[in-house]
Parts: sequence; structure tokens; C-alpha cells
Amino acid sequence: MMWSLWRCSSMTGSSAFTNVRVFKCFRQFVKNYNISARMPEAIAFQGVSDHSGLHKFSVNESETFWGALASQRLSWISPFNTVQNCNFSQGKIKWFEGGKLNVSVNCLDRHVHTCPERVALIWERDEPGTEVKFTYRELLELTCRLGNLLKRLGVRRGDCVTLYMPSCPLAVASMLACARIGAVHNVVFAGFSAEALADRIRDTQSSTVITVNQGVRGGKVIDLKRTVDQAVQNCPSVQQVLVAMRTENSVAMTDRDVPLEEEMMKEDVVCEPVTMDSEDVLFLLYTSGSTGKPKGLVHTQAGYLLYAAVTHRYVFSYQDGDVFGCMADIGWITGHSYGVYGPLCNGGTTVLFESTPVYPDPGRYWETVQRLGISQFYGAPTAIRLLLKYGDEWVQKYDRSCLKTLGSVGEPINREAWEWYHRVVGGGRCPVIDTWWQTETGGICIAPRPSDPDAEIIPGMAMRPFYGIKPALLDAKGEVLHAHDSTGALCISMAWPGMARTIHNDHQRFIETYFQPYPGYFFTGDGAYCSKEGYYQIVGRLDDVINVSGHRLGTAELEDVVVCTIKCVYVFVVLKKGVEVQEDVLAQQLREMVSRNIAKYASPDYIQVVGRLPKTRSGKIMRRVLRKVVERKTDDLGDLSTLDDSEATIILFP
Ligand code: ATP
Ligand code: MG
Repeated sequence: MMWSLWRCSSMTGSSAFTNVRVFKCFRQFVKNYNISARMPEAIAFQGVSDHSGLHKFSVNESETFWGALASQRLSWISPFNTVQNCNFSQGKIKWFEGGKLNVSVNCLDRHVHTCPERVALIWERDEPGTEVKFTYRELLELTCRLGNLLKRLGVRRGDCVTLYMPSCPLAVASMLACARIGAVHNVVFAGFSAEALADRIRDTQSSTVITVNQGVRGGKVIDLKRTVDQAVQNCPSVQQVLVAMRTENSVAMTDRDVPLEEEMMKEDVVCEPVTMDSEDVLFLLYTSGSTGKPKGLVHTQAGYLLYAAVTHRYVFSYQDGDVFGCMADIGWITGHSYGVYGPLCNGGTTVLFESTPVYPDPGRYWETVQRLGISQFYGAPTAIRLLLKYGDEWVQKYDRSCLKTLGSVGEPINREAWEWYHRVVGGGRCPVIDTWWQTETGGICIAPRPSDPDAEIIPGMAMRPFYGIKPALLDAKGEVLHAHDSTGALCISMAWPGMARTIHNDHQRFIETYFQPYPGYFFTGDGAYCSKEGYYQIVGRLDDVINVSGHRLGTAELEDVVVCTIKCVYVFVVLKKGVEVQEDVLAQQLREMVSRNIAKYASPDYIQVVGRLPKTRSGKIMRRVLRKVVERKTDDLGDLSTLDDSEATIILFP
């Protein structure tokens, strides 16, 4: 029953795509690029080495481009009528209206149909060497049992379920189970405090929370259920808490708590997928909060899934058989798009990393690469900077010949970290792919190699817009900077399928934040430089850009040289492990370096050596906190709910 429903979709070649003009254009496109329309995998990209030609097509003929991809890459229950219906001034973003599909079927059933025993997930547990693999068949069974359990507990289409779980197969199955029954998931990073969790549960009015008894990370046991207990005390909407057992330690259970595994095993392994509209909500995700009150961004079904899948395949050159190692926790958008939805939609094998880069020692990542045979490693600059401080031996101990591509995301990657990643980790042989994107964009928007495997990559640059992405740089007056070799506010001038649809319960804030600052454009909040060749480099958040003697300085540029800043330049230096220097000598050297490499006016006024910096839970430096501390406004530090360790600020500034 289940199969027949899904086999009649576009996988068999029937087209969901009826617009005649669009079709004609598509045929021409296929002809131009000598691509066989019958080869679903080949449609837009294979055999095309010219990124700029294909990029031009994707923005000039955006409907054709995305319509063809949606038709070919996704399994539809019924076809969509329109490709896009977007209006930036109203904050209206709609893709593939009229289309019906189920995201969990796209991520599971269709692969179970063709390759049931292919490994879908490798759960890289905290203790090295204890990984657990799940095939597509097993993951579908788990998802169906969970879906049935959620239904039995009264969860209905459109209800929001909050997940407070570490990266693990049950978390992925919970996300997909929500998708299967039409519920909306809201994953809250399992490192957030009870207060931050309660805020997010209240904002979403979730009646169901899924958690684990305890988390295990870096050899430490974390009482997650206890945090949930504290949080739900102040959340009257919560009627039930499903508790999975990550460790064998029993935890206090109340009438509200449901033992997840026990109840799940009573359920059937078949769960009929619900038919969803393209624009029904798939999930909510709160941004990490580097810049103020977290926003609950809303992503919908078809456009998000398509964009995650297509970027996953082309930005990383993901091939069947590769093992994709995204180190981000599922609590972040990176974990959603490149730990779960992108790879699973593509029928790939994805790693769920439960540990830390330094557990049990700083060789953990590379030992994992060797043991699991990771082909694409996707990490964050904060981790790379941390690891390079420990030295090359920790990398060189392990065989990394399985690596093909090294990805970076979350912050600008400074030159030193880029070089080290490339030279030491990749042995000079793997391209370093610096990917720029946001929770709001759903997937990668700027990255070096969306197609051509030999395309030039300049260290520290995100380089080229992805297909269908048309960036624009605007100056402070809102004028578009037409000439290359300029720096401005990074905006995107046309809609793409992966973009967020609204802010939960606050559409006005959505419009004000993203569409009003530069009418006609989506405003990212970041600044970028565009080189003469048309390559992009992210210069940091615009609220981090500082004005020194009338010159606008991006923090990324300065950090590249001194490897943080505030209206005068105030540099915080964290020294490599074991390094001892005289502060005045260091200060002198740094001033000379900045004067030489950027300009005299940029030379730091203050330099302070510190033990650590305040960071968000996702590892990004919270510069707004640094700024307040320097300005001695410590009683007005703003929303700190996402700060990883409030102690850091105290250690920094006793
Ligand atoms: P909030 O919006 O609540 O302040 P956040 O911006 O940290 O939180 P995310 O959506 O996870 O939340 O992060 C997106 C931001 O991360 C981008 O806007 C950009 O500032 C930064 N970023 C991501 N990737 C890169 C990159 N490759 N280079 C430079 N900056 C990046
Ligand atoms: Mg942001």
C-alpha cells in the first residue's frame, strides 16, 4: 500500500511540471548543455563545467531551473501548479504551490524501495569506536513506529513538537516522524538552559516534548531530562514528555512522562504518510542568537527540502557511496540541512556526531574520519582554530586519504585556519569549501564550487553564488554597488526555494528585519566584499563592522591579520596552548602587522590577552558582548540565553 502511493510520482519520469513555456525553455536548456532529460541525476549539472553559464541560466530562467529540479529531484504525490509566487515587499515567499508530497517519503521510502540496506545514518557516539549504523530500512521502521506513537498520543497535523535531544538516530527519526504525520518540529539545541528551552516551548505552544534521560558528551553525563523538568514547569502547554534512554541510569518519571522506547515498540512499523502541501510548515528553528532575541524561523516542505538536497549534492560534490561527515549538532540549521534533510533526500550516508573535537583528545575528528571513511568533512572555524592550537601531530597520526572535500561554516574562516585546514588536514589535496549561509536561507548560498571541480578557490573567500542566488551589495544609502571590487551590505535580489517563509508569530518582524532595510531585496545582516573577478568574501556581521577614523572595517578582515574588535580597535588575543609571550612585545608586533597588512588607521588601540572569549552555543564569538564589556556596560549585556558559558565574560573581565 505504502509503496504504490509513492511510486507513481516523478521518480518514474512523469512530470509534475506542466507550464508549456517553462517546458520549452527547459528543453532548450537541456539541448544547449547536451544533457539527457531522461537522466534524473544529470538534469541540470552533469557535463556542464561552466558555472557562470549555468548560474546565469538559473537566475534568468529561475522558474525553468527550479521547476525542472523540483520535478526531477522530489517525489510528488501530485504535481505543483506554479513554481514560485513571491513578493519581497509583503514578505510573501511561496514555491511549488499546489504540489503535494511527504518529506519523510522523500528521505526514506523511496530509498528503501531501491536500496533498503544502504546505511543512512552512522551514529558516532561519544566513546570512539562505538558507532552504530542504521540502514534506510531500519530508519524508516523507527520513524514509522515513532509516527504511530505520536499519533496515539494525540499529536495531529500542524501541531508543534519540541525536541531537546543530542544528535542521535532517535532525534532524526523524531524529526522525520513529525514530517510523516504532518506535525511541525522545533529542535532546541540540547545544550541550552531550562530558561532558553522554556522560552522556545512557550513561543511554539508545544504540547509534546521529546528528550533523552541523559546526554553524553566529551565523557560527561548531562541530565537533559532534569533540564526539561525545570523548563516545563513554566510551560502550561506541555501535556507529555517522551523520554528516550541514552544511558542506563533511571530518571524520575512523572505522570506526564512517556518511556519512549517501551511505548514505541508497541507500535507498527508501517505508518501511512500524510499528504502535505508544498507550503505547509515543516519545522521551526530559532536562530543561535549572536545578535539579540532569537527568532523562530519557519521553513516549509518542498522548497526547503529541494534546496537542502541540491546544495548538498553540488556544493560538496557528494556522490553515491560517499560518507558525509557534518559535525554540526542537529540543534542548528547546519545539522538540519546537511546532517539530516540534504543527505537523506539524496539517499546518502550521513554521520551524527555526538562528541566534541577534543574528546578523548584533539585527534578525535581525524580518528573518526579514518574509522568511518568520511569523504566530506563539514566543520566550523571555531573548531578548526581550536585544533590548530594543539599542533599537526594530532592530525597526521591518522589516515585521511578517504577525504575528498573539507567544508567550513558558521563564521568567516581566517586565513591561518584556512591554510592549516587545507595543508595539514587535507594534505593539500582536498578543496576547502567555505560556505556562507544562514538559518534564514535554509541552505548554502555562496560557496566556491557549485559545479566545476577544478574551479579556482581563493583562501578565505566564499567565492561564487549558488544556482538561483543573485547577490547584491548595497551601500549605506541603499544604492546598489555596481562595480566589482567593492564592499557593502550583502543582500539577495531574488527569491530561492530554501528561504524562510516567516518568523513564527511575528510576520511583521520578518518583513522589518529582512525586507524593509533595502526595499526589493532580502537583507542578510552581513557585509561582503566582491572582488574584481566577481568573487565574494564575507566581512562579518554588519553590526560588527566598526567605524574607525571614517573607515568601515570588517572584523573578519582584521582577524585575518591578528587572528576582535570595537569604535576604536580593541583586540582580544587568545594564545595557543603552551605559548608564553610578553604582552607588550606581542602588542607591538600585532600593531605592526595590522599597519602593514591593512592600514595604519586600523592599528589596535588596546590589546588584551585573555583565556577565552564569550561564544554562542554554536561556537560563534559574541562580539556584541565584547563591545558592551569594553564600553563598561556590563549591566546591559542583552539576551545571554544562548551564551555557552556566562563565566567566560567574568573570567575575561574580573
Ligand atoms: P542570530 O541571527 O540570532 O544572531 P546567527 O546569525 O549566529 O544568530 P545562524 O543563522 O546560525 O545564526 O548563522 C548565520 C550567520 O553566521 C551568518 O549571517 C554569518 O554572519 C555567519 N556565517 C555563516 N557562515 C559563514 C561563512 N562561511 N563566512 C562568514 N560568516 C558566516
Ligand atoms: Mg543571523
